Amino acid sequence: MTTEKIPYKIYLSEDEMPQNWYNVRADMKNKPAPLLNPATGAPMTFEDLRSVFCDELIRQELDNNTRHIPIPQDIRDFYKMYRPSPLVRAYCLEEKLQTPAKIYYKFEGNNTSGSHKLNSAIAQAYYAKRQGLKGVTTETGAGQWGTALSMACSYLDLDCKVYMVKVSYEQKPFRREVMRTYGASVTPSPSMETEVGRKILAEHPGTSGSLGCAISEAVEAAGANPDYRYVLGSVLNQVMLHQSVIGLEAKAALDKYQVVPDIIIGCAGGGSNLGGLIAPFMGEKLRGEQDYQFIAVEPASCPSLTRGRFAYDFCDTGKVCPLAKMYTLGSGFMPSANHAGGLRYHGMSPILSQLYQDGYMKAISLEQTRVFQAAEEFARVEGILPAPESSHAICAAMDEAMKCKETGEEKTILFGLTGTGYFDMVAYEKFHNGEMADYIPTDAELEASFAALPKL
Ligand SMILES: *Cc1c(COP(=O)(O)O)cnc(C)c1O
Repeated sequence: MTTEKIPYKIYLSEDEMPQNWYNVRADMKNKPAPLLNPATGAPMTFEDLRSVFCDELIRQELDNNTRHIPIPQDIRDFYKMYRPSPLVRAYCLEEKLQTPAKIYYKFEGNNTSGSHKLNSAIAQAYYAKRQGLKGVTTETGAGQWGTALSMACSYLDLDCKVYMVKVSYEQKPFRREVMRTYGASVTPSPSMETEVGRKILAEHPGTSGSLGCAISEAVEAAGANPDYRYVLGSVLNQVMLHQSVIGLEAKAALDKYQVVPDIIIGCAGGGSNLGGLIAPFMGEKLRGEQDYQFIAVEPASCPSLTRGRFAYDFCDTGKVCPLAKMYTLGSGFMPSANHAGGLRYHGMSPILSQLYQDGYMKAISLEQTRVFQAAEEFARVEGILPAPESSHAICAAMDEAMKCKETGEEKTILFGLTGTGYFDMVAYEKFHNGEMADYIPTDAELEASFAALPKL
């Protein structure tokens, strides 16, 4: 460790930004299980996937072996508009907690979409454009992914059709309008526009929707038009790949000061920010070069890693998507209204699921009132108003720092601060008014959902 004082923010120059994404699958002994064709039970081939995803993204999805994949120049140029993102030494938080721990966070909220999702949105839009497609369809839950994708599509002059989970469409009109500002069309889901939407509405009249429903609708809409493809903001191998830019930058910044983290923490919805942040560090661990402790943090209301099953499941409620082997709560699981909308997905990235299964990382779940307490404490000392999703990582990092205070250990903690929470002020309002509930699903509810897992 250098004796030089570490600055509050460690930036990289443009020249130091990563030129390649890092594909952690290349270093995994047990590769993530392949996507399966729901009709035949056979692994999805390149041809099977061509009606859904654009070609280059399928190659990335299926590539378990290429360690470094070049980031095309056009994408690197786009990244330069808002990257490198700062790596912040949380001196003020350390002071407030009176902890000997050294806390760093990688802040991904410095762009209009307000989260890390833009890192993959631009890549996916770029490959769709290069293939000569007219547009893309997608779902969005809390709205961050839809916002990121609409920004990427407007930059590349691609059409963008977003199915937005109905409860968010109604509760987050500002997010919706940001998407429309960037030219996207936004439909509340479930809708009457698709067959699967009509079916879900018939079965669950008045439902406020879920990510799983919106995915089904977006996939159907893309399939109905040969000039469109579907894109997904998390879970997939290709998304983990694009998000590796977070970890690569973080590692390059820490390396400048010879700082080696002991613990790396991220919130986990579908797993993309966590997978991206830990990627190069996990690579070192997998290759036996360095040891790190990785912690995934999920909401107690949607605990896919901590209470889910590792099994093949549908990625969507309408069961139109391929099956993925992952930690899942069941594709029919409807999480209770939770304010961390981006963490309400029933499944988890197959890559992270495999790494978790193999003991390379641990997972914890937190109740949302505690998470908001941590969010507020953080906002008051570090200035940034965090997204509820990100605040799960903040809370876990603060807990680890408090453990260090008890033991006197000077551990170095790195966590992912995935975004800002300006569009989540209704949630903050509920917290301030003492109206926030901590809902935890019962074992019986989860068992009922597991019973509907596909039998292979
Ligand atoms: C979407 C989102 C997440 C969760 O998604 P992952 O794919 O698990 O990273 C976390 N934080 C923010 C701010 C998000 O928008």
